Amino acid sequence: MRKDLTPPVNSQSSVLWSFSDIQQGLKDHTLTCQHIVEQYLQTIRQKSHLHAFLEVYEDEARQQAQEIDKKRSFGTAGRLAGMVVGIKDVLCYQGHGVQGGSRILEGFHSKFSATAIQRLLDQDAIIIGRQNCDEFAMGSSTENSAFGPTLNAAGISRVPGGSSGGSAVAVQAGMCTASIGSDTGGSVRQPAAFCGVVGLKPTYSRVSRHGLLAYGSSFDCIGPFTHTVEDSALLLEIMAGADDFDSTVSRREVPAYTKALAFDQKVKVAYLKETIDNDGLNKEVKDKTVEKLNFLKAAGHTVEAVDFPLLPYVLPTYYLLTMAEASSNLSRYDGVKYGFRSSQTHDLLSMYKKTRTEGFGEEVKRRIMLGTFVLSASYYDAYYTKAQKMRRLLADATRNILKEYDFIVLPATPTTAFQLGEHADPLEMYLADLFTVQASIAGVPAISIPNGEDSQGLPVGFQIITDLFQEDKLFAFSHYLLGK
Ligand code: GLN
Repeated sequence: MRKDLTPPVNSQSSVLWSFSDIQQGLKDHTLTCQHIVEQYLQTIRQKSHLHAFLEVYEDEARQQAQEIDKKRSFGTAGRLAGMVVGIKDVLCYQGHGVQGGSRILEGFHSKFSATAIQRLLDQDAIIIGRQNCDEFAMGSSTENSAFGPTLNAAGISRVPGGSSGGSAVAVQAGMCTASIGSDTGGSVRQPAAFCGVVGLKPTYSRVSRHGLLAYGSSFDCIGPFTHTVEDSALLLEIMAGADDFDSTVSRREVPAYTKALAFDQKVKVAYLKETIDNDGLNKEVKDKTVEKLNFLKAAGHTVEAVDFPLLPYVLPTYYLLTMAEASSNLSRYDGVKYGFRSSQTHDLLSMYKKTRTEGFGEEVKRRIMLGTFVLSASYYDAYYTKAQKMRRLLADATRNILKEYDFIVLPATPTTAFQLGEHADPLEMYLADLFTVQASIAGVPAISIPNGEDSQGLPVGFQIITDLFQEDKLFAFSHYLLGK
């Protein structure tokens, strides 16, 4: 028995298992699910200073591993047997705490599991814990978590990106095989880029939002962090598809993404002039992106520059609409229904006020106030209606490019991971999302794959966008580019 608990490998890089490594190990009998869980728990302990997890389900994970090993010996295990997953603290898992990185949900336990999480469990994935994030997924650095920031494993003075920073770092540092995050305007792709892992935002409505704490409901998407494109494809295949609990989810059939990873055609790729020539784009990130474009050209693909003069409007449109939606979505946290209630109250109104004042952090309060303002009767048309019109124009312009080209490619982020505390000004922080919000506004799928490192050893991300529901194509192309 003791022998089974010995970590199978001890070098830093070899514990960054992809799921196919794990499956191979299980098949060869060099690994068991119990081994795998012990290894991850050990890494979580060793790297606890990174603060990727808010809670680790040690005993439960061990018990699940034991059961799944048993199932494997009977040949009855699901497709994800051996996959160990961490979940962002915005996803409900029955009987477990979920707080959206906020004080206001203190002590709250979910009565049900998010559909996406339930589907993973049904296939015998092991959920190892919940991961740190910006409060209610609002932020680009994980510094807005009420529980303190997560640190980037590539440099601990650096942010991991956000809002799903804990989820990105957990995969980066080998604490789990994959993480599940949420991406409203880049919260999977941007931290994936900062941490050197694969991060996917599927088509809006591809994955049920049932059991996801809502931020901007017309943007919110659940997406995986993985080491390989193959694992990303597998997780989407399992999480996606119709769900009676979310009427907005697409009923389209879910393709077998994992069976469609072969890529041997020539494609048409557009890059946006305004992104590559952007003043805010760091020189090293630009060079890495240009290198990739040159590789594509040399490999015989058509690579063309396209104008996207609407780029300056993406951030105002995104922030205006998501703040409006957030102000409505977050009204449910009032001290009555869930979690935290201020003890300093004397009547109903003061209870609401004090609970929300004490329970929410600065950034969330800023957004609730701005969102309420743009939805107020006198300003609704000037701001909210206008932003909705702008969203239509941006979505149409994006989809028009995608009618002519298979993919739009661009850097995932303007810079590599910045220093903790570097962007104290919220407007500067919002600029970190310059290249990710376009796909969110248009609802189209986008992925960030690793694209080497800058001269300081910080990961660079390469983003690929394609048209609605073309994830199969997106995976095949990314798999080809990343080579795994
Ligand atoms: N950084 C963006 C924001 O703060 C995106 C967050 C997200 O995708 N959840 O809104």
